[in-house]
Amino acid sequence: MIRTHKIRLNPDPAQETYFYKAAGTARFAYNWAVAQWRASGGEKPSAKQLKKQFNAQKPDWTYEVTKCAAEGAFMDFAKAVNKHLKEGAGEPQFKSRNRGHFSFYLANDKFWVSGHWITIPKLGRVNMAEKLRLHGKIMSARIVRTGQHWYASISVEMPDKRIAPKAEAVGVDVGILHLATLSDGIVFDNERPLKHHLPRLAKLQRVLARKEKGSCNYEKIKAKIRHLHARIRHIRDDILHKLTTFIARYYGFVTTEDLHIEGMMKNHHLAQALQDAALRRLLTLLEYKVADRHGSFVKVDRFFASSKTCSNPDCAGRCEDLTLGDREFVCPECGLRLDRDLNASINILYESLRLMYNTHPSGSGYDGRKQPPQTGYNLNISSVLDGGIHFCISER
Ligand SMILES: [Zn+2]
Repeated sequence: MIRTHKIRLNPDPAQETYFYKAAGTARFAYNWAVAQWRASGGEKPSAKQLKKQFNAQKPDWTYEVTKCAAEGAFMDFAKAVNKHLKEGAGEPQFKSRNRGHFSFYLANDKFWVSGHWITIPKLGRVNMAEKLRLHGKIMSARIVRTGQHWYASISVEMPDKRIAPKAEAVGVDVGILHLATLSDGIVFDNERPLKHHLPRLAKLQRVLARKEKGSCNYEKIKAKIRHLHARIRHIRDDILHKLTTFIARYYGFVTTEDLHIEGMMKNHHLAQALQDAALRRLLTLLEYKVADRHGSFVKVDRFFASSKTCSNPDCAGRCEDLTLGDREFVCPECGLRLDRDLNASINILYESLRLMYNTHPSGSGYDGRKQPPQTGYNLNISSVLDGGIHFCISER
């Protein structure tokens, strides 16, 4: 499997100039390819043909930086064309300096990593904020500017370790109020990164709206917004990584509800949009981390009414008039009272067990409602709810 470690770089001013030059070269090559591709009628040239053409006529200043910069641009271009032709994505678009497209590629034989240093051709040693944490064969790297900093994203092919999957099964309800509620009662809070930064972000965007587009002040505010976005993303990513690593480590059978992506895309409210992005990312991270540890990851159809159904395995009650404001699920049939997200996560678990193993929770493996296991993992668990269930898949 291939993993990427993104490490912050501490370039000196001369090195930063090189980064801008190399990123500029990559952007120039990419945009050149887009222009040629658009201009040619009939059969479109392939990325390979365009690259050959480019190499024959490229301007002298492109030689000032590693030739990987242009090479990577053609790889990106080939991907964009492929997406357009095979996956129905739009035509390849021009990359713009103003929209913050600063990145370039490095092939594996064109850089070296040692301790806190990365060595790049025609540049020399650049300091890295931390050592490369992944051990394996280095495949490639990408130098990229995010917010106000430069980073090296280094891809490493790691040996595939066989780990026996854990027997613990868990249902995960992701949501707005709580980031995740697990079926054994563990709840993870959500608001921290947004709470602090959202008002400031909204204010900056109001200020930006009043500035003249393209003016110096406009660009200044825009840079601030980019920086703040990056900060929010970093804090959010930290939480998401810790949460998903925890789940993948402790549970071998993980199940969630599919998100309604299409409806989410239409949401233009700032906080909501960021929240949606976080939930999508959570599921992506969870899926690959569980797979890495040879666990099973199952998505349950969202039309299955997880929040309105009673999670008592011996009851088929439904609470049709449950609204988004109700924090507690109360079953009209058996009188079960449970936190609504917990009730939903238990239902998600049961539904996936039914789909995958055709088992009913009252059958083997079910060992009743009890307190979840202690994690011992450094994570902000906001609460542990009563009524969670502990479920093991015994025959695995
Ligand atoms: Zn019930």
